[in-house]
Amino acid sequence: MKARAFIALGSNLDDPLVRIDAAFRALAKLPATRLSKRSPSYRNRAVGPGPQPDFINAVAELDTGLGPYALLRAVRDIETAQGRERRAKRWAPRVIDLDILLYDDRQMRDSRLTLPHPEMHRRRFVLQPLSDIAPELTIPGLGPLQDLLQQAPAQELIEVASTEAALESG
Ligand code: ATP
Ligand code: CA
Ligand code: CA
Repeated sequence: MKARAFIALGSNLDDPLVRIDAAFRALAKLPATRLSKRSPSYRNRAVGPGPQPDFINAVAELDTGLGPYALLRAVRDIETAQGRERRAKRWAPRVIDLDILLYDDRQMRDSRLTLPHPEMHRRRFVLQPLSDIAPELTIPGLGPLQDLLQQAPAQELIEVASTEAALESG
């Protein structure tokens, strides 16, 4: 019996679309796991002071035989594998961040893992791509995804055109 999990992907490396694409491919190769859906990617204008690289964000839907802790370990291994090649450079921005948003209807909170992800309902850059692939979702403890999306703080998100994605990765 496989679980359905949703993973948030984020990167603000200079070439983040390539990073996000590599992370999707790594997720697809996890043991006992199928990458069942892949959201569009969004460019997320940084709102902080001074020039900051934009984030690219996306969401993956997985059908997985891994338990929640095994999945957490697996996504951290992917982060480590992608981060390692960056460590040669100094002042590296955020290479890749993979958060478990949801694992079936599981609600839990301990030192390693909180489900659903505790910040997801405040982040349009998570809710929008999640809604693109699973519009009917209800988030355990929080309510219908569409309600959360309406209530989330305004934030400028620009869907990355597939041509742009193809150019950056090709
Ligand atoms: P945020 O969680 O606000 O997005 P972050 O992704 O920058 O922040 P990290 O430094 O990547 O935070 O992770 C901090 C810790 O969060 C990890 O050590 C991990 O054990 C824990 N954690 C708790 N719940 C989750 C979850 N649902 N998905 C991923 N990591 C989680
Ligand atoms: Ca995060
Ligand atoms: Ca994280």
